[in-house]
Amino acid sequence: MQACVNPFAHLGNCATPNGQQQPSARAGQLCDGHGRVVRYLRLSVTDRCNLRCAYCRSDINQKFIPHPKVLRYEEMVRLVGMMASLGVTKLRLTGGEPFARKGCDELLHQLHAHYPSLDLRLTTNGTLLGPHIPMLRSVGVSAVNLSLDSFDRDTFAKVTGRDMLPAVLDSLDGLLRAGIRVKINAVAMRGVNDGQMDDFVHAVRTMPIDLRFIEFMPMGSGTLWGPETFWAAGDIRAEAERRVQLDPVQDDSAEAGPARMFAVRGGKGRLGFITAVSCHFCGTCNRLRLTSDGNLRTCLFDDREYHLRGILRSPHFDDGQLARVVRLACADKPIGADLLKARKKGEAVADKHMVGIGG
Ligand code: SAM
Repeated sequence: MQACVNPFAHLGNCATPNGQQQPSARAGQLCDGHGRVVRYLRLSVTDRCNLRCAYCRSDINQKFIPHPKVLRYEEMVRLVGMMASLGVTKLRLTGGEPFARKGCDELLHQLHAHYPSLDLRLTTNGTLLGPHIPMLRSVGVSAVNLSLDSFDRDTFAKVTGRDMLPAVLDSLDGLLRAGIRVKINAVAMRGVNDGQMDDFVHAVRTMPIDLRFIEFMPMGSGTLWGPETFWAAGDIRAEAERRVQLDPVQDDSAEAGPARMFAVRGGKGRLGFITAVSCHFCGTCNRLRLTSDGNLRTCLFDDREYHLRGILRSPHFDDGQLARVVRLACADKPIGADLLKARKKGEAVADKHMVGIGG
């Protein structure tokens, strides 16, 4: 695996943020050709979204998956069950915007009823979340990732194409009042939110949240991505440290994600950095992604997709055969950093936009 200049070296090497070790595989579990054990599935409920985030999609050629190709909820539940039988223990619903699809509550209820031990999570833009918050606890969702790239109303509207910051802030407040853990995802963009560190620092000083800056990833063409909008995690950290003392957090738990987390001295929350571009964490990648039309992606940066929908809908195949396809796909899970490195300068690493994958 490639070495890289790591502004977070004291927390362990790039491939293993926070010094985590990859747990070893038990018999029957999903293991890839690099010895990584897969336990985490991200399921895109829909590719439709009520926001138009400039980093996530392009308005040119934005086509939606036709309805007949979108997996029905019962098909999603069946696929999740098959994945759970292969050792997947954590499931994140994402999109598009999960709540932009009718009946998302019902999906959550069904997933919880069928697989109560599954660690069920959600990534959402928060704009439609408010009425669903009481339901989240009842289906065992203990943490929500909320996308929020700016606390400034004009910037929010410019980035997302919708003037909906107040709705997101209401959801944030509602989640905290409901005792649900909140991780804020902020895509870091030079010329967009790089002048707003005071707001971000204020948020982590005053709220018990994890606020994670995600490095802008070159996904699909026609987004805002470019060398001029890329804001590297090392620079973001320096900007934050001009305002606040950051103390590295060593997290070896299964909870630890790819973010390098820092406690904010004197504050209620934590700041984190997801260095997807400047310093990869492929060594601990334990995830698969499933698009809403039933395509399995083994790496965010790899456009090869394994079409499970046809197998799922065919009367000639059962779950055992589906599982076999997933195992074969998983065995070939690449190192995303290699794909990133191999791409042509200035070009996207994958053709598909994030809105169609789920992040
Ligand atoms: N609609 C939901 C939301 O906004 O959270 C879920 C889908 S969205 C694709 C999931 C995550 O991907 C969000 O946190 C978003 O910030 C992140 N994301 C999208 N495009 C990105 C990019 N080009 N680089 C980094 N993160 C990106």
